[in-house]
Amino acid sequence: MAEYKGRAVGGFGRAAAFSFFPGKNLGAYGEAGGLATSDDALYQKILRMRGHGSVERYVHEVVGHNYRMEEIQAAVLLVKLKYLEEWTRKRREIAVLYNSLLNDVEGIVLPVEASGSRHVYHLYVVRVRNGKRDGLKEFLKKQDIDTGLHYPIPIHLQKAYEDLGYKKGSFPVAEEQSSEWLSLPLYPEMENDKVEYVCDKIRSFFHA
Ligand SMILES: *Cc1c(COP(=O)(O)O)cnc(C)c1O
Repeated sequence: MAEYKGRAVGGFGRAAAFSFFPGKNLGAYGEAGGLATSDDALYQKILRMRGHGSVERYVHEVVGHNYRMEEIQAAVLLVKLKYLEEWTRKRREIAVLYNSLLNDVEGIVLPVEASGSRHVYHLYVVRVRNGKRDGLKEFLKKQDIDTGLHYPIPIHLQKAYEDLGYKKGSFPVAEEQSSEWLSLPLYPEMENDKVEYVCDKIRSFFHA
């Protein structure tokens, strides 16, 4: 689990949402998610929203949705949950290896684990400075290294929110960073020589 000041996420604050999308650290075999809360009123409200506004069969107190998780997903998650800590440990080791192999490459900003936080590296995202992100992505693709963009278009420039009236320049920091993020390959089974291969290619792109 990710932690903040010694407490696992979901164990503090009013509520926390978890995605169990298949690609996550704890992923189902299809769409799934969960919510933790210590607030009983909120819990009652969410219970109703999840199941067509109903808790008691045939009685609908509010207008709800069908947000129930399939039982098969819960069964998969319960088995995978046993391995989560082991997988997290491996993800963290891979991140440490990436950090050590890339930390002297100029033009790349590495992820920093804030003090008091335990990062679980669902993604290992670097920032590629000086407009070189897309070039590096292309270059790596040619070496059979797939990378991800999380995400290239900031929310205020999405069509879905165009009625809010924001435009290019409204949030310069978000805009700059969305052009710099690059998610490098990372999964618990990734072997050290694969990480070394990726870092080698990145270094050769930068002539580092
Ligand atoms: C999990 C995740 C999301 C959203 O996942 P949902 O299952 O749709 O809630 C979006 N972006 C990133 C980077 C994520 O890791």
